[in-house]
Amino acid sequence: MPMMMLGTNTRGHKGWVTLRCSICNKKMIVGEEQIYICPKCSVGARKTAFCRACARITHYRCPYCGTELQLYP
Ligand SMILES: [Zn+2]
Ligand SMILES: [Zn+2]
Repeated sequence: MPMMMLGTNTRGHKGWVTLRCSICNKKMIVGEEQIYICPKCSVGARKTAFCRACARITHYRCPYCGTELQLYP
């Protein structure tokens, strides 16, 4: 599996990895804001991520599997 699917940038350009909230589809920049991920639903480069507002709504638990969310990275 190629690892370059993580962001839109090519390798060598640092940072600016973006994730989308699984609930509201908001675009989030890693390092710029608080992002929560489900360690269980995140497989490889595919992260199940949640913005701060949605994580709060779900009481910091994954709505899909019930696992406690972790702050990313
Ligand atoms: Zn959200
Ligand atoms: Zn999950």
